[in-house]
Amino acid sequence: MIKEIQIRVEPQFAYNEQVLRETVARQCAIDARTINAVRVLKKSIDARQRTIFVNLSLRIFINEQPTDDGFTRIEYPDVSQKPAVIVVGAGPGGLFAALKLIELGLRPIVLERGKNVRERKIDIADITRSHKINPESNYSFGEGGAGAYSDGKLYTRSKKRGNTERILNIFCQHGASTAILSDAHPHIGTDKLPRVIENMRNTIISSGGEVHFGTKMTGFIINGNKVIGAEAVQNNTERTFMGPVILATGHSARDTYRYLHSANIAIEAKSLAVGTRLEHPSELIDRLQYHNKNGRGKYLPAAEYNFVTQVDGRGVYSFCMCPGGFVVPAASGPEQIVVNGMSPSGRNSKWSNSGMVVETRVEDIATNEDELKDPLLMMRFQEKIERDCWIAGNMRQTAPAQRMTDFVNGKLSYDLPSTSYSPGLISSPLHFWMPEFIVKRMQQGFQVFGRSCKGFLSSTATLIAAETRTSSPVRITRDNETLQHITMNGLFPCGEGAGYAGGIVSSAVDGERCAEAAFNYLNSHT
Ligand SMILES: Cc1cc2nc3c(=O)[nH]c(=O)nc-3n(C[C@H](O)[C@H](O)[C@H](O)COP(=O)(O)OP(=O)(O)OC[C@H]3O[C@@H](n4cnc5c(N)ncnc54)[C@H](O)[C@@H]3O)c2cc1C
Repeated sequence: MIKEIQIRVEPQFAYNEQVLRETVARQCAIDARTINAVRVLKKSIDARQRTIFVNLSLRIFINEQPTDDGFTRIEYPDVSQKPAVIVVGAGPGGLFAALKLIELGLRPIVLERGKNVRERKIDIADITRSHKINPESNYSFGEGGAGAYSDGKLYTRSKKRGNTERILNIFCQHGASTAILSDAHPHIGTDKLPRVIENMRNTIISSGGEVHFGTKMTGFIINGNKVIGAEAVQNNTERTFMGPVILATGHSARDTYRYLHSANIAIEAKSLAVGTRLEHPSELIDRLQYHNKNGRGKYLPAAEYNFVTQVDGRGVYSFCMCPGGFVVPAASGPEQIVVNGMSPSGRNSKWSNSGMVVETRVEDIATNEDELKDPLLMMRFQEKIERDCWIAGNMRQTAPAQRMTDFVNGKLSYDLPSTSYSPGLISSPLHFWMPEFIVKRMQQGFQVFGRSCKGFLSSTATLIAAETRTSSPVRITRDNETLQHITMNGLFPCGEGAGYAGGIVSSAVDGERCAEAAFNYLNSHT
């Protein structure tokens, strides 16, 4: 017999399989020995009160064995002889587009400027040692895209549950834990993601698709108003690839934006959020969020938070929170400092961080009518802040930083707390040189957050500059129905870099939508 129940238990009953089984047996008034498996369908922590509860929705197999792995598998057909679609970029947008193309019976040819996910790790590790950024292989570029060495947080604000569940199932089919299907805030962890990404690549290749690393798209092959292929450089050799193009190059491919602009392929400037990373000792966040002076105890995961307020008509909010994680040097080129956050699956570092950012609109930056119309305005704004940070950081990857309370009080920090940011920090008056409209709003926002959560506004917390890559600074405009570029047929701007997604799951969902659009396009042209 299979039975589904909901229970609400204290953490010590939820995180140990044997104890959970006994609890379920008591609840259902049955013998624990008759339970063959307990599958968690949904799990969420209720930490609003002093006593913390875990809400569980469970499927219990009584005198019966589960007949599946807990997720739905997709059969990928052989597409080696099928029409080709070029996918530029092997981030979540590109990888999920490629897998969906295979499902639809098309042959993806994936072009990726960076290295495979393992070799890429060496270049990332080298940033701390040499303070140099390889412009083709870094936290943004390489197999897996910006999501590969991330937290692997898989929650999205998207309301389309079916789409999200499909994406999570495909992650499970490629090696992610099925816990991502039940956790209210699922995450894979930076230590587990590379294997999952490799498995996706293997599915693409074994189904007859192609994946080319070290292959940078440099332009399109255009016939009239139609993109019929892509030009690329591979090991210093020029190559061409023919087919419609799904362009999933991410928000850091500034050369792609410049190319589109110079080729008169319509793009527009897009609002984005800018600020800093904020790093606290994780035990402080645990104490505050779990309302317990002893912190999270033996069973609970590192605590999360989520803050948002409005200051002078703009949102100030926490973004991409990484409990028990690390702040990382996420620049994609020379003379830039960009910070971001990630965490391993165990979320067990001594620090917890998040982006603390201010919504920044095009009209906040433009100083005249011409600038208002400049599609690259927001990108240039990002570039300026990133370069200012690099100069403030002594022209290395040493990031400028300030204690949170000193920032709010407008004081230079004499010293800084210990940090997870491995290239190191340098004390800098961020309140003085970062754009005033961002500083003022962050200062007020932090006071609001400090009042709503006593202890959060703390001298043990550090602001690390700058968080500039929260989303794309450009939108590559496309038609809402066909998902084709508004003036170029056969070109499908995709994922975060096109301005239609933000985060791993929404980029993956958009990748699948673009694959369907390319399928419809090819069907209507044959
Ligand atoms: C450190 C870090 C942590 C993050 N943590 C999370 C998280 O926990 N959860 C979450 O949802 N999101 C997270 N994000 C954001 C998330 O990674 C992105 O939203 C997502 O990866 C966007 O997917 P994408 O496929 O659209 O673009 P990208 O992932 O940026 O992929 C674009 C790919 O295109 C390639 N490319 C670029 N130009 C070219 C070219 N000319 N030719 C060939 N290839 C090219 C790049 O090398 C790259 O691999 C994080 C990002 C970073 C940097």
